[in-house]
Amino acid sequence: MEKPRSLGRAAYRKRMKRRARQRFRRRVFAGFSVLVILFIVIIKVGASSGENDPLSYIPCIGSPAAYLQAVSVTAAQKESTKRCIVVDAGHGGKDSGAIGNGDQYEKDINLEIALKVEEKLKEKGYTVVMTRRTDEFISLGDRANLSNSIQADLFIAIHQNSLENDTVTSGVETWYLPKDAYSEGLATCVQEAVAEATGARSIGIKSEVSMFVNRETTAPSVLLETGFVTTPSELEKLISDEYQDKIAEGVVDGIEKFFMSHELPPSKYTGNA
Ligand SMILES: [Zn+2]
Repeated sequence: MEKPRSLGRAAYRKRMKRRARQRFRRRVFAGFSVLVILFIVIIKVGASSGENDPLSYIPCIGSPAAYLQAVSVTAAQKESTKRCIVVDAGHGGKDSGAIGNGDQYEKDINLEIALKVEEKLKEKGYTVVMTRRTDEFISLGDRANLSNSIQADLFIAIHQNSLENDTVTSGVETWYLPKDAYSEGLATCVQEAVAEATGARSIGIKSEVSMFVNRETTAPSVLLETGFVTTPSELEKLISDEYQDKIAEGVVDGIEKFFMSHELPPSKYTGNA
């Protein structure tokens, strides 16, 4: 560097020394900052490695907010796998439920769908308790008592709709009771997911106190009507293996979305003890 003419030799040295000190301080500060950033990155990576990796649950992370949301989703999902869900296939045995086209019983369609829901939920790691796995009569009281006695986390009843007088209609609807802070949310999640998975018309969620299992179960609960057996075109779909699979996928997707978006109290399921 050229020596400025206006400065004396001593003043010039002094200024150079001051600048050297400033450079040193800047380098120390920069080095320290890099170490701090490295430390934070190591902590973050360590916290989200392995099976906790949020990327394995949500593929499209576009913003820091989405990343943070994904991390909390991971925690919620891990929690949800310990949960116990009662799947209730409506009717059974002497109680056929609604009848479509003369010999298509609601009880059979309900059971076929419920067994698919059971299988898919178990694949996801949930504990599933069925109110029935065969064509047998179980009273409504026994269904609710079973759920209450094991302190299940959720109760999902599967039913088929019907209309008299040859009225033709179609679609999915979900019944709930605002008995707690969760059932309406569960109804919304299941309703939306089943309508999306099947492409069926979404009639919506409905609140009704006369639905026994919703009223008598202590767990958050819904009663899903997957379609109308009295509408021939809908019945045709409802008895097909492929369409039942879509319904079951929708139910499971809805349950997962419910767990992701609701913070439930710790499970009291007696099987966890
Ligand atoms: Zn029914």
